[in-house]
Amino acid sequence: MTAETTPANAVLTIDLAAVVANWRLLQRLVAPAACAAVVKADAYGLGVAPVARALHRAGCRTFFVACLAEAVALRPHVADSAIYVLAGVPPGCEDAFVRHQLRPVLNSLIDIAAWRGFANRTASAPPVAIHFDTGMSRLGLPPDEAARVRDEPDRLDGVAVACVMSHLACADQPDHPLNARQQAAFAGLRQRWPGVQMSLAASSGIFLGPAWHGDLCRPGLALYGGAPVPGRTNPMTQVVDLRARILQVREIDPGWSVGYGATHHARRRATIATAGVGYGDGYLRSLSNRGHGYIGDIRVPLVGRVSMDLITFDASAVPAALLAPGTEVELIGPHIGIDAVAADAGTIAYEILTSLGGRYRRVYRGGVDGPSERDAATGADADGLEANGGR
Ligand SMILES: *Cc1c(COP(=O)(O)O)cnc(C)c1O
Repeated sequence: MTAETTPANAVLTIDLAAVVANWRLLQRLVAPAACAAVVKADAYGLGVAPVARALHRAGCRTFFVACLAEAVALRPHVADSAIYVLAGVPPGCEDAFVRHQLRPVLNSLIDIAAWRGFANRTASAPPVAIHFDTGMSRLGLPPDEAARVRDEPDRLDGVAVACVMSHLACADQPDHPLNARQQAAFAGLRQRWPGVQMSLAASSGIFLGPAWHGDLCRPGLALYGGAPVPGRTNPMTQVVDLRARILQVREIDPGWSVGYGATHHARRRATIATAGVGYGDGYLRSLSNRGHGYIGDIRVPLVGRVSMDLITFDASAVPAALLAPGTEVELIGPHIGIDAVAADAGTIAYEILTSLGGRYRRVYRGGVDGPSERDAATGADADGLEANGGR
């Protein structure tokens, strides 16, 4: 059996056409600004190669990743595109940025000084982004360092600045006062950097309005179907679908318990359906006694603890004729979006996506060569798009 034909306990389907539709929607929203794509953390767990290739074919030409290793892995899939590395240059790794034509994000005076020395020794040093901290206190030049760059411009001699960026701390809370403060600081930067591409907004920031758009937006989560504005109707198309197979079905009597720690007791006779997914697949243990699935259109509460490889549902509401080993249970899909799973788990959709595990059978659909699974798996432009762990 090959990886593609080995039966898996669960199938994770990733809709590349939906990723592209989301990117196009955001691009229309932010025009005339450009829309980049943030594909760090393996494109939020969805597979950086197929995701970036689909976006590149759709016209995306600027990509952001967190670290150098991600950028090197991304480069062959998006020739001729700008790739920014948010964490900047690891010590002594400048040459890799030249070799792969990667753009470091410089986050401090120390970063700038090191790159300036390198750029002045190196003919083909790529351009950079400079990140100013306007309220996140995480990465980027804090205000005192920003003032020194302003007052001592020779610090940038020989450094080609292609982009000036900042990052919003509270963009998912539209009424938060920090949004306006960061926007004002960004507007100040904009005046000081005429002709340089300015970038502020990630997914949520795009929905704050045009004053936050600058010249280049940097969405991640919204591309992958996450709600950019919590509590409002999600305008994005769902990308992820996760279905598990029921392995076994049993009836339990009142008083019987389910799972480790006996944390759930049946109050009446109940039907328990066990599926082969667990926290070893990134199905978070915090979903114990809180998650839910769907069998057909019927909601089935997750009962008992999530264990490493198994979860248990109270399927008493499902007609017996529809319930047997092999029956499919929807864990993420049309009835349960990633934000709903996140709410059940007490976390955010980002963590649901980046936790998606390596044991699922992964199927990519909606690649440009055709909408079917077969095309995604075997298409000429789809190098190994379907494989367990083939991401
Ligand atoms: C992760 C990240 C993004 C993307 O954020 P989303 O909320 O997923 O859109 C943009 N910019 C920076 C600096 C980031 O770290």
